[in-house]
Amino acid sequence: MYSRKKLLQDSRKTKNNLNMFYDIIIIGGGASGLCTAIQSKTEINTVLVLDHNSIPGKKILSTGNGRCNLTNVNASVDLFDSNPEGLIPYMTSGDPLFYQQVISQFDCHDTVNFFAENGLLCTDKNGYIYPRSEQAVSVQEVLKNRCEDLGIDVVVNHDVRSITKKKDHEFVVDSRYECLNLVLATGGLSGASTGNDGSGYKMAQSFGHHLIDPTPALCGIRCSDQIFRYLKGTRTDGRLSFKAQGKEISVHGNIQFTDYGISGIPAFQISSIIGYMLAIGETPVITVDLMPEIALYELVNLLYRNYKLIPAKKRYDKPAQRMLAGILNQNVINAVIRRFSAAGSTNDPDAMCLALARAIKLFQVHPYELMPFENAQTTAGGICTDEIDPLTMESKLVKGLFFTGEMIDVNGICGGYNLQWAFSTASICGKTLQARQSLRL
Ligand SMILES: Cc1cc2nc3c(=O)[nH]c(=O)nc-3n(C[C@H](O)[C@H](O)[C@H](O)COP(=O)(O)OP(=O)(O)OC[C@H]3O[C@@H](n4cnc5c(N)ncnc54)[C@H](O)[C@@H]3O)c2cc1C
Repeated sequence: MYSRKKLLQDSRKTKNNLNMFYDIIIIGGGASGLCTAIQSKTEINTVLVLDHNSIPGKKILSTGNGRCNLTNVNASVDLFDSNPEGLIPYMTSGDPLFYQQVISQFDCHDTVNFFAENGLLCTDKNGYIYPRSEQAVSVQEVLKNRCEDLGIDVVVNHDVRSITKKKDHEFVVDSRYECLNLVLATGGLSGASTGNDGSGYKMAQSFGHHLIDPTPALCGIRCSDQIFRYLKGTRTDGRLSFKAQGKEISVHGNIQFTDYGISGIPAFQISSIIGYMLAIGETPVITVDLMPEIALYELVNLLYRNYKLIPAKKRYDKPAQRMLAGILNQNVINAVIRRFSAAGSTNDPDAMCLALARAIKLFQVHPYELMPFENAQTTAGGICTDEIDPLTMESKLVKGLFFTGEMIDVNGICGGYNLQWAFSTASICGKTLQARQSLRL
């Protein structure tokens, strides 16, 4: 037997016998799409999520190394300007005011509350928020189950190719579905294996929206230096620094050296700024400090002490190798000594200690390209924020068209900021749609 609510819902779904009608259609069932669906659903309205993957929220499963770092305590407006490093912004966009307005409406605390209300408990690991289970699948399951429980239709394996507008106010999706409100939640270009092909950008552009050139972000950085053949496969604690627009940018963490250049969290954090500099024709130089915990003069003293440990008759036989043996990773020693020798090695102990210390603390590498989108965790660039209302996430150009998540020109550093962005935009969009719906009823 049909309840009154179900009859009403079904009558809203089948407006005419050609196409299925929904109040809201969301293209993309990723983090922001599923969250928008949950936040926009009312008892009466009908919501459809379309995704071309075989399961909703597929990308969530690979986030945070399978643990899903879903937000960060710093993802709130009060703390936005106080990055602990004080050096790279948590988020980057053509218009910083845009993301600040969005985050101020729905921040990390709201994300934790939203998930608690929907049955997911979180845990705080030094400010990085994970599901209590420390399994990304918990996040994906909760979002998927809530969609099911709320009566949201989620259709997978549907690759949306066309959106048109019928009359003034109805969207037609793939000549099969119709709706009054259409949400583009198709992500960016990062992580192609989890369904991101940039098709959403074309859909937005077909409605007159402008695209800020998308580039990979949170990815490894290719460098032209030959030295990587000695360093590949090495991980070391270090600091990466470079100058951008006159400002010194610097990030500390576990650096991974690869055959192409640098990777690991510190490289990811600076990748979008390096990518931007390369795109505008600049030639940034990154200084790698391979011993950030010690000042240059202290290192010189330490090396001199090690030099003195070498018996006098052996001081002419590869002293640098012996001086560094107990201090650095073997691959790093090889690379440092190559740089030291290339700079014209000396046997004068003072000059040698200073030159070695400089080779360790001022180890320069030369980026020329970012790793491709397949290897990137997010996208810099995207749909221009000037054309989106941050209070509703609605297009300023087309009524009833909304944007959420990574497809907008905002990207965050590692640490939960990108998923927070997905949830903040989704929540604003979902609540707008819910309010609009109730006004209509
Ligand atoms: C390996 C990896 C690890 C990450 N770890 C973290 C982390 O720990 N913390 C964090 O904050 N961020 C992390 N991120 C980034 C984060 O996952 C994204 O920022 C976030 O998922 C973006 O959400 P979204 O909804 O905008 O897009 P997505 O999650 O990419 O969802 C877009 C959806 O749209 C679908 N779609 C696209 N085009 C179409 C179409 N034409 N038809 C139908 N469906 C379509 C896709 O299949 C996809 O499901 C990580 C990313 C990667 C790749």
